[in-house]
Amino acid sequence: VMKQRLLVVANRLPVSAVRQGEDSWALEISAGGLVSALLGVKDVDAKWIGWAGVNVPDEVGQRALTKALAEKRCIPVFLDEEIVHQYYNGYCNNVLWPLFHYLGLPQEDRLATTRSFQSQFDAYKRANQMFADVVNQHYQEGDVVWCHDYHLMFLPKYLKEYNSKMKVGWFLHTPFPSSEIHRTLPSRSELLRSVLAADLVGFHTYDYARHFVSACTRILGLEGTPEGVEDQGRLTRVAAFPIGIDSDRFKRALELPAVKEHINELTQRFADRKVMLGVDRLDMIKGIPQKILAFEKFLEENPTWRDKVVLLQIAVPTRTDVPEYQKLTSQVHEIVGRINGRFGTLTAVPIHHLDRSLDFHALCALYAVTDVALVTSLRDGMNLVSYEFVACQGEKKGVLILSEFAGAAQSLGAGALLVNPWNITEVAASIGYALNMPADEREKRHRHNYAHVTTHTAQDWAETFVSELNDTVVEAQIRT
Ligand code: UDP
Repeated sequence: VMKQRLLVVANRLPVSAVRQGEDSWALEISAGGLVSALLGVKDVDAKWIGWAGVNVPDEVGQRALTKALAEKRCIPVFLDEEIVHQYYNGYCNNVLWPLFHYLGLPQEDRLATTRSFQSQFDAYKRANQMFADVVNQHYQEGDVVWCHDYHLMFLPKYLKEYNSKMKVGWFLHTPFPSSEIHRTLPSRSELLRSVLAADLVGFHTYDYARHFVSACTRILGLEGTPEGVEDQGRLTRVAAFPIGIDSDRFKRALELPAVKEHINELTQRFADRKVMLGVDRLDMIKGIPQKILAFEKFLEENPTWRDKVVLLQIAVPTRTDVPEYQKLTSQVHEIVGRINGRFGTLTAVPIHHLDRSLDFHALCALYAVTDVALVTSLRDGMNLVSYEFVACQGEKKGVLILSEFAGAAQSLGAGALLVNPWNITEVAASIGYALNMPADEREKRHRHNYAHVTTHTAQDWAETFVSELNDTVVEAQIRT
């Protein structure tokens, strides 16, 4: 039997490409959970379509890169620097990302923003059309096309304009905000209508799906049904598909001798202290200052813990060229410095703050030795760090403190201590509760989360979405 072909379309291909010469490229595939999930979907033959993250102005280079990528089952969309600036840095990262995380539309330099808004939106549409062109060139009858994320909200519409029979799904990896937030967006209606061209629209949680449906009813005046959104007899199915991780990949890593050795080193290094861990991109949505202030409050109120606990904060740099992010970095450094100055001794500090990423194995070791993980996102589509921590805690059975504003709170709420990250007093109290938690309660909470994380994997997620998309199209054919 011929396998069904799946075209996965995302802004970024899961590769990094470095040019070696006029017609040669070095490629490195990123081994993340999403990649293995999508390549591992049963009975499906997956290909990726997206931008390779580099500007390739010349045809020789483009042809060579296309050829090299083909071996990795990847197909490139070539975007020039100007369009990347307007579409990606501009509309995607400065408008949609903050808005979908409830940070509102850009406010500084308001007039300039309002003026560049239209040109950024035009670039966004143009970029989406370029993705659609490439998909259309590679599309074969029967293929499933799965569009990913807020970068590609016009793609369903453009694909259906090429071919109304194409099976098109769209999945959002961020939150979808309340309709009261979405309605502030100048292009609110066009974006909703374009997404609705898809056959199936998916979100991480029911809340996000419900927000999307109510945006369609309130802003477009369409009818919301338990199945989705209806427009003149045509149904767009809307549903929740919570993503997961490849939990076996983490369990396997913990068995490697090098990782075990690293775990031993860390255990010895922090033998006299409980280890608390934060792992976040350094983004406003992660609530890093709030987390550190809560930790300070805990130390303030619990002098006996001051030399018995350490907070390891991994802050992965992101968008370092953007002033707002630079400001956040210095703000975090200032708070960390103040707290270490206040509670540190000649030989130890309470916070170890790292401005860099760790490799996969180092991260696994860190997850494994942690007593309490602290996730204080102000908004977060899912938050995979909380899943990864749980997957690595088979032995230790540590505590997860988790923001109620992370999508993961919907699935790990039974085992985690849920907190409102804005309430520093509550987070400080939860830190105390977590550090003092009796073993039987810890184990019971861990069991809940571990069962969830190991049975709701990224591969299940991808399989469910693709089969639901196939079913949705069959049902629509029966109805008409
Ligand atoms: N991560 C990483 N290296 C690091 C720290 C984090 O590769 O040094 C990974 C982590 O394993 C996780 C991802 O980055 O898979 C973060 O995903 P999450 O959903 O928590 O947040 P996002 O960054 O997507 O907002």
